[in-house]
Amino acid sequence: MRLDKFICKSTELNRSQASECIERAEVSVNGEVITDVRFQVHESNEVRYRRQRLVARPSRYIMLHKPLHTLSSNVDGDYPSLFRCIDIERVEDLHIVGRLDADTTGLVLLTDDGRWSFDIIRPDKQCEKTYRVTLRDPIIDDAVEMVARFAHGLQLQNEQALTLPAKLELVTEKEVLLTITEGKYHQVKRMFAAVGNRVNGLHREKIGDLSLDLKVGEWRYLSEGEVHQLS
Ligand code: URA
Repeated sequence: MRLDKFICKSTELNRSQASECIERAEVSVNGEVITDVRFQVHESNEVRYRRQRLVARPSRYIMLHKPLHTLSSNVDGDYPSLFRCIDIERVEDLHIVGRLDADTTGLVLLTDDGRWSFDIIRPDKQCEKTYRVTLRDPIIDDAVEMVARFAHGLQLQNEQALTLPAKLELVTEKEVLLTITEGKYHQVKRMFAAVGNRVNGLHREKIGDLSLDLKVGEWRYLSEGEVHQLS
């Protein structure tokens, strides 16, 4: 972790205050004064600020049931930010792991651990995300063909490559479960547009093996097991 980030995670200083105190030569690592804010701190290092030993606060890992018409952003816009659902200290240190559209509900992960979130969203990881989709047009006679088309890969507008194989399961004529391993912009809506249908409702139920188990607007910390399972 960068030294300026470590100072933020172990004191009440913000990023610019942390940088200033590093540049003023008030921070040492293993007894040596370090003035480079980008210096990499390792777990075993002894970091001191004005001679006081610092210990980083543990990272936080959160599951939220995102309400309809909230923004996957740190600030309010046309709708309130989903961060308004989370009433904890230093909420501004958290970031969203895989955004949802304002009109999409369901499972959102938040953390202040950048390595963990990168591990979940990086494309080669192919982490599964399952969405419950309400459709404009029923899937009836073409059900078998649709399942095959999603499994084969679809040509999205403005994309060169086909989408990766996706699993489509029919719940009712107008409700399906779709499991994808990518996270392209508006991916689910664009996939159904590619087959001439339209998404009227979208809800993320699952990321990897983690299923949403909260009511709308509720949040909880993930267990240690859940954190490790996902990365
Ligand atoms: N796909 C979409 O189209 N929207 C989302 O919010 C998530 C996936």
